[in-house]
Amino acid sequence: MWALAFALIIVLFQNLKNTPSEVEIPYSAFKAKLRDGRVNQVKVRPDLIRGEYKDDAGHVQHFRTLPMPDLKLVEELEAYHVQDFQGEADRSWLTSVVFNLGLFLLFFGLWWFFVIRQVQGGGKQALSFGRSRARRVDEKKTVTTFADVAGCDESKEELQEVVEFLKSPGKFEKLGGKMPKGVLLFGAPGTGKTLLARAVAGEAGVPFFSASASEFVEMFVGVGASRVRDLFDQAKKAAPAVIFVDELDAVGRHRFAGIGGGHDEREQTLNQLLIELDGFEQHQGIILIAATNRPDVIDPALLRPGRFDRQIATPLPHLKGREDILKVHSRKVRLGPDVDLSIIARRTPGFSGADLANVINEGALLAARRGKEAVELNDLEESLERVVAGPQRKSRIMSDAEKKVVAYHESGHVVVAKLLSNTDPVHKVSIVSRGQALGYTLQLPKEDKHLTSRSEISNRLAVLLGGRCAEEMAFDEVTTGAADDLAKASSFAIKMVTEFGMSEKIGPLSLKEPDREIFLGRDLSQGASYSQNTAELIDGEVKRIILAAQAMAREILTTHRKKLDDLAAKLIDREVLSGEEIDAIFQGAVS
Ligand code: ADP
Ligand code: MG
Ligand code: ZN
Repeated sequence: MWALAFALIIVLFQNLKNTPSEVEIPYSAFKAKLRDGRVNQVKVRPDLIRGEYKDDAGHVQHFRTLPMPDLKLVEELEAYHVQDFQGEADRSWLTSVVFNLGLFLLFFGLWWFFVIRQVQGGGKQALSFGRSRARRVDEKKTVTTFADVAGCDESKEELQEVVEFLKSPGKFEKLGGKMPKGVLLFGAPGTGKTLLARAVAGEAGVPFFSASASEFVEMFVGVGASRVRDLFDQAKKAAPAVIFVDELDAVGRHRFAGIGGGHDEREQTLNQLLIELDGFEQHQGIILIAATNRPDVIDPALLRPGRFDRQIATPLPHLKGREDILKVHSRKVRLGPDVDLSIIARRTPGFSGADLANVINEGALLAARRGKEAVELNDLEESLERVVAGPQRKSRIMSDAEKKVVAYHESGHVVVAKLLSNTDPVHKVSIVSRGQALGYTLQLPKEDKHLTSRSEISNRLAVLLGGRCAEEMAFDEVTTGAADDLAKASSFAIKMVTEFGMSEKIGPLSLKEPDREIFLGRDLSQGASYSQNTAELIDGEVKRIILAAQAMAREILTTHRKKLDDLAAKLIDREVLSGEEIDAIFQGAVS
């Protein structure tokens, strides 16, 4: 932008200097025109002659020419009646230097003016590259404590020690105990890693410095390292303190991975982090807490003793934990008398703390929108579905034909799920579109499950394929609506064969593909851990499993065609059916 503006101004200036209509003519032509009596004005400079003459059509034409040693010029000018001739001083080198300098200063001043303005207006970016953008959160104002974190008692217990240390760093040293310098929290997103780190600072009553590792890795080489240094300097001044680095995997991946892996910005940043970790002493009372959801990619150098030697998992909460988290988040929400949080907890296996917080929040918003005094059970149920499947889209209009297809598709899932044993109970089925899905069948497990048997997975596959089979049977045609089901089914089948050892032909082997994320670096040398033959065998087995599931779904739907038709008809009519209503339809169809 600036270069462009600069060039533009220069060009403009040049154009102003040379009047555009001026023609350059040879000295001889000038003399000829003079002798013709056509020249009527001349300015003579040692280095240039300019003037006006009348051209053939009688128009005034500006000209210029380079002078030659011509002692008789003045005599001739007089002789041919040039009315107006005068000498002009040469623009000496001094004036041109002053002139150009002035121009330069002008541009520099303009540039300075704009940059300064930008810096003042735009967050002082230009002048503070190397500064850490870490936010210092004073825990006196917004205190987060362990009471705000629920459902991860083991993690809290382990962190309690860190809190004690921060409260009185000297005490530990006296007894010769060694505190960890770094604590690595790992777990799925939304399981409360950030929250726990804050709570540690809150419990100990020390300042909390938080930064995200991805902020360290910026465009300019060296900036990350200097930001890390700055972050630690800030914290040391405020010690005892907690430094929290989120998304550690952004800088802490295995080094020497990837093309040209050596000296990149990320690695410099990581090295600086290691230097800082090694550089501070116990008694300084600083604890570095880092969080990641990819502990498997963290550089082993970070996990050595004296660095992040304490690793604490934040797992997804169990039933009791979920109830506690729901309680924590509904402290400030008025709940109706019909709300039993243990029911919500039971219906939310696999939800993270953040999801649960979201359920409560959405429920409160819904209740407010409906003008209620308190949040009731149905608000929470609706918000639960929102969190699972995205908001209901009332505005989306489906043609009747499409509605029929979706109704058969979803009914297919339901019928297969109801008639197979070992499947999760169907809680609800709907053909009102929600988020990406045109319709959905909500199956909720009765309890938390950590083990899944082969027959359970096979049945689940049959349920997934049931939607497509039903469409096929009802319309002799399949649609794109089953894409998501197929993707899920395939991924299950692949896992059955390569991870769970559930295929007879492959046997109890783990043929998991190596983690491909580190592109062309470490893994290049490892390659696939099985032969081409095995790869073909895997493909065959995956296909066989899917086809078997399809056959199972088809058989069930053919024998129970009437149930499928009844259910689809009802669904077209009502759009949403609850678990009890589905039961009623099934019993009606039997009798
Ligand atoms: P992470 O850093 O692991 O991705 P966060 O700590 O940022 O997750 O969690 C996001 C939000 O979810 C928190 O602000 C909190 O409201 C809620 N949350 C997550 N885990 C818990 C928990 N164990 N107890 C209470 N609230 C939680
Ligand atoms: Mg976080
Ligand atoms: Zn489906």
